[in-house]
Amino acid sequence: MAVVWLDDVRADDLDLVGGKGASLGELTGAGLPVPPGFVVTASTYRAFIEDAGIDDELFSAVEVDHEDSAALKQAHETAHNLIMGTPMPEDVREEILDAYRSIGDGDAFVAVRSSATAEDLPDASFAGQQETFLNVTEEELLESVKACWASLFSERAIYYRNRKGFPHDKVDIAVVVQQMVDSEKSGVMFTRHPSTGEKKVIIEAAWGLGEAVVSGTVSPDNYVVNRESGDVETATIADKKTMCVRDEETGQTVDREVPNEKRHDRVLTDGEVARLLELGELVEDHYETPQDVEWAVYDGDVYMLQSRPITTISEDANGDDGANERTRSDGVSDDVLMRGLGASPGIASGRARIVTKLDHLDQVAEGDIIVTEMTMPDMVPAMKRAAGIVTDEGGMTSHAAIVSRELGVPAVVGTGDATTTIDDGDIITIDGDKGTIREGEEPEEKQRQPVEEARPKTPVKPMTATEVKVNVSIPEAAERAAATGADGVGLLRIEHMVLTLGKTPERYIEQNGERAYVDEIVSGVREVAEEFYPRPVRVRTLDAPTDEFRQLEGGENEPREHNPMLGYRGIRRGLDNPSIFRLELQAFRRLFDMGYDNVEVMFPLVNDAEDVLRAKEHMIEAGIDPDKREWGVMIETPAAALSIRELADAGIDFASFGTNDLTQYTLAVDRNNEHVANIYDELHPAVLKLIGDTIEACRETGVKTSICGQAGSKPKMAQFLVEKGVSSISANIDAVRDVQHEVKRVEQRLLLDSVR
Ligand code: PEP
Ligand code: MG
Repeated sequence: MAVVWLDDVRADDLDLVGGKGASLGELTGAGLPVPPGFVVTASTYRAFIEDAGIDDELFSAVEVDHEDSAALKQAHETAHNLIMGTPMPEDVREEILDAYRSIGDGDAFVAVRSSATAEDLPDASFAGQQETFLNVTEEELLESVKACWASLFSERAIYYRNRKGFPHDKVDIAVVVQQMVDSEKSGVMFTRHPSTGEKKVIIEAAWGLGEAVVSGTVSPDNYVVNRESGDVETATIADKKTMCVRDEETGQTVDREVPNEKRHDRVLTDGEVARLLELGELVEDHYETPQDVEWAVYDGDVYMLQSRPITTISEDANGDDGANERTRSDGVSDDVLMRGLGASPGIASGRARIVTKLDHLDQVAEGDIIVTEMTMPDMVPAMKRAAGIVTDEGGMTSHAAIVSRELGVPAVVGTGDATTTIDDGDIITIDGDKGTIREGEEPEEKQRQPVEEARPKTPVKPMTATEVKVNVSIPEAAERAAATGADGVGLLRIEHMVLTLGKTPERYIEQNGERAYVDEIVSGVREVAEEFYPRPVRVRTLDAPTDEFRQLEGGENEPREHNPMLGYRGIRRGLDNPSIFRLELQAFRRLFDMGYDNVEVMFPLVNDAEDVLRAKEHMIEAGIDPDKREWGVMIETPAAALSIRELADAGIDFASFGTNDLTQYTLAVDRNNEHVANIYDELHPAVLKLIGDTIEACRETGVKTSICGQAGSKPKMAQFLVEKGVSSISANIDAVRDVQHEVKRVEQRLLLDSVR
């Protein structure tokens, strides 16, 4: 028997039908609505390679040095050609085609997916690639099945198995062939809150096929449903720009723009939510553990496409609806005074202190809420005393947002006019998750520090193949950052240290001398390097925008620029005026001499190899051997992304995506301009394309990749990057834990996909 029907498959048929086949069979058997289909069994694949006598050749072709990318590519090509070039036996062909013809009317579009098996699942991650072909017809069916077999030998799968020492001949592959559900709407459902374990169903939904939601290319609607009452507690309706559909003519899956009238429409009706809830209960009961389900709606019916256990619920989550509740049941009520962006999580009440001039800062007492136009570096001591921070201006990457997250102080930024709406002395409550400000005081027990503060100091850290690091801007945050269990610091910005001096570097040096300036940098970096030792700390040379430095003493000498974001900053400034840049490099040299070999050097805003080679030259002049130290660049401009191979030739060890800038330069959207904030989208396909292509080129050239922009804290970006094979992700302190869990979840999914 080359094939078995899903109706006849059960969970313990793993060896025969792989993980995906077994799970779909189990769901079918439990009476859940699964599209009809069959599985080409794993033994069919095994018989195919053995009977054709290609097995020995196949397995020896993929025994290569996994760090040698040319050898890896060659191994993949050999294995792929062997499988695709070997004809399928006639009896197998007939059996598969017969089974296909009995689905639907005999000419159905089917989805063909690999479902690998393994004798032993390794405990550490080894991701592989899962091949999926959608909208397949009879004509392409057999080739698609073979392509699924060959997907067992993608470069990535070979890489991971060789790295983990997992034998290639122990993995078999089955292929699931299932009727396509031409979904009008689709998405995912968690039968419990995926990180807190609360008894709430979280549903994400978008128009069209599910690929757009699962791959993160569309922002889906989000529904939080109370499992007891069935009430939709919150429905966040997203602007759904794109959808994935089947092209009527070619049958291929294509991305389309969502028609204007549907973009802002709520995707799910109450009836569909109720049906999903019902299926969620059934599937969780069946498996006796919370599930992460992919679903689709076609012709009014809800189908289940896949279900797996949720792996991200933290060990310390108690699963009740009490203290861990992140969504207040009163939702958006009338007493919301004003709104902004929730920039640092937590809920805090206190007395508003309107800060308009620096000399008001001493009036900020312990537990007050600072309300100001925009925070400045000099405010950091007052920000530490404050219970919360509110600003008129700025976005998620503004000074206020970055510093408050690092200090663990709830913050709402970009409110527009808080300083004129709120009166000094008013008692207010700010919610840094929702971005709201309310009048009055929240009861003590409802006030909440950022989530990870309430967690154990030594968190149970999931082991991930992708490193999860943390961003630090102020050395005072080092201890808190290190306590997250992060694998190192992905970005330590020097400019916050310099800004705290209150003077431009030139003025500071004029008054205190070069040595004192170097000492300041050494002592700030050392604090972080010491806290993390031996974990690596990536320190960026100064990226000083003229508008920020103008506020400092000596700032009157900063050039006046029409658009500072496109102006005199980053490495171009360092190279143009090496007198300051040189001193930063001397600070690195001192740190290395002091034994901080965990410090890494990173250059900001490079455009091309010339920038990199000139910076490298300065590094050598400062006595730093680029061959002995880890050094690299930020990828913040499309030019840098497009020149990545030349940058690799220049000798960089790593490339780190600065998505705050990469997004603004790719989309021509000023990151500090609230008038265009609605089109600032780090997950825009163009930004993702630049990132994805750069990762691929870096993998080929042996350069490590990382992200240190704000988007690294977003689960969707983390998902995209892990799937692309990024080496590390650096997140904000408050997001490290969630990112660790998201990375684990995606890696496990890739792992399971590779062995199913
Ligand atoms: C970035 O551009 O993403 C980045 C991390 O740098 P900064 O926010 O300091 O410009
Ligand atoms: Mg930047």
